[in-house]
Amino acid sequence: MILSASIISSDFTNFGDQIIETEKAGVDWLHIDVMDGKFVPNITIGPFMLDHCRKVSNLPLDVHLMIVEPEKHIHAFAEHGANRIGIHTENNPNALRTIQQIRELGVKPTIVLNPGTNLTAIEYFLPFVDMILVMTVNPGYSGQLFMPEMLPKISILKKMIKERNLNTLIQVDGGINHTNINLVKKAGADVIVAATAIYKHSDGIMAGVNALRSNAS
Ligand code: ZN
Repeated sequence: MILSASIISSDFTNFGDQIIETEKAGVDWLHIDVMDGKFVPNITIGPFMLDHCRKVSNLPLDVHLMIVEPEKHIHAFAEHGANRIGIHTENNPNALRTIQQIRELGVKPTIVLNPGTNLTAIEYFLPFVDMILVMTVNPGYSGQLFMPEMLPKISILKKMIKERNLNTLIQVDGGINHTNINLVKKAGADVIVAATAIYKHSDGIMAGVNALRSNAS
């Protein structure tokens, strides 16, 4: 199971050390949640943050854009070293074109679904993307409660991918912690995004990652 640490929950006063510790703890990817105050209520960080990650870590940079008109910003994130860029299918009639543009930039594309969005919205994206991100909270803030109602959605998506003989990854993002990680894994998730469970663990980052790993097996 691939573990992607959402850096917006890290301690920004001590960012470099936090990322070094994250890599040492055995996390596979760094997840960058980009919010614009329009697509979602909250505002977070921009492409410059990828440079700060890269200064201290060689982990793949997994960018999740929760922004309007993502096509205007994919170039900047690619230039700043994104390895994967995810865009939402909602409110975006040209999402497939943007997915193809992400691929042309040499970056692996991900399509993202909000909890209320049906899988039919991404059925025809399957041959074009490397990963599908199933949101298990409404996007906008970290620290929200996991929605168990999304477990069947993950299972059905897994079936859709198998039926098409694809090896598209399923990523799950939102409220994942040591008590529910086994449920999403069993449902078919390949990549887990964790924020609070890693960065707000009372015994530190390493303990947070260990708790996730040991409960996922
Ligand atoms: Zn995310």
